[in-house]
Amino acid sequence: MIPATFDYEVAESTEHALELLGGREDAKLLAGGHSLLPAMKLRLARPSLLVDIGRLRDLSYVRDAGDHIAIGALTRHKDVVEAPLLQEHCPLVPSAAGQVGDPQVRHRGTIGGSLAHGDPASDLPTVMLTLDAEMVIRGPSGERIVPAAQFFSGVFQTALEPTELLVEIRVPKLPSTTGCSYMKMSRRAQDWATVAVATLVERRNGSIGRAAIGLTNMGATPLRATQAEEAIAGGAAIVDAAPLIASGSEPSSDTAASAEFRRHLATVLGRRALEEAAGR
Ligand SMILES: Cc1cc2nc3c(=O)[nH]c(=O)nc-3n(C[C@H](O)[C@H](O)[C@H](O)COP(=O)(O)OP(=O)(O)OC[C@H]3O[C@@H](n4cnc5c(N)ncnc54)[C@H](O)[C@@H]3O)c2cc1C
Repeated sequence: MIPATFDYEVAESTEHALELLGGREDAKLLAGGHSLLPAMKLRLARPSLLVDIGRLRDLSYVRDAGDHIAIGALTRHKDVVEAPLLQEHCPLVPSAAGQVGDPQVRHRGTIGGSLAHGDPASDLPTVMLTLDAEMVIRGPSGERIVPAAQFFSGVFQTALEPTELLVEIRVPKLPSTTGCSYMKMSRRAQDWATVAVATLVERRNGSIGRAAIGLTNMGATPLRATQAEEAIAGGAAIVDAAPLIASGSEPSSDTAASAEFRRHLATVLGRRALEEAAGR
């Protein structure tokens, strides 16, 4: 459980981080270290240089940016949970961030690290996919914006190039008629999700209009339950749309659950999350 040897540099600015990152082929950024360091101890990751971006305080913020809320990539999960702007305009994000790990993980782990890591069992990638959030990425040739739907490309794989830094996440301000819920099932309180479901529901005079449904740990990347979303948009009741929630997903079987049980969980949690969002 001891990592292979590596060099260590502290980045003083975003530009300095990019310079250090580009200077060594197998360099890696270190944010909260709560995913990278365990991977290094297991020798699943063997970077020869760690570029510590943990002190870039100018990348830790939650700001009102007009039509959206901007979250700096170095914002820790705890600060996301407590951000009044997110609680008011996009409560799905703090609700899910509050279910990440335990207090120690939430005090050290960052939202950018969680998204860049690309773990399909992580909570915040699913939330960003459900919200149609945008990722602001900075690299040697400037800045680009990638929608969440194009950001997660496989298990531990994202649209980030090795020389790029995720600097900001943009989430929409939800109208007051939109309810939300994040429901997670895990074997122990502080664990990653066996399965989790994120929902947004547009409420219209006692009935529901459109819904967005995101799934955690139901495939190689976070997924949208498009068949159930289409059924609700077409007028189906939650109870009739819920059996479609796992359609098109490809969950794995492991020590936490079989693929079949994961499909069952997604259906049950999804129905409850839709009902909670519709009732809020
Ligand atoms: C005991 C335990 C329980 C946990 N439980 C959960 C859970 O229930 N749900 C959950 O979602 N997560 C869970 N986590 C993971 C936790 O949320 C991590 O904080 C998160 O996955 C990684 O964030 P970090 O800041 O620690 O990133 P790091 O570990 O520092 O980095 C992770 C990866 O992202 C890259 N990276 C980091 N920041 C950036 C950036 N700004 N731009 C580009 N690349 C970057 C790094 O190079 C590395 O490859 C748990 C972790 C532990 C140790």
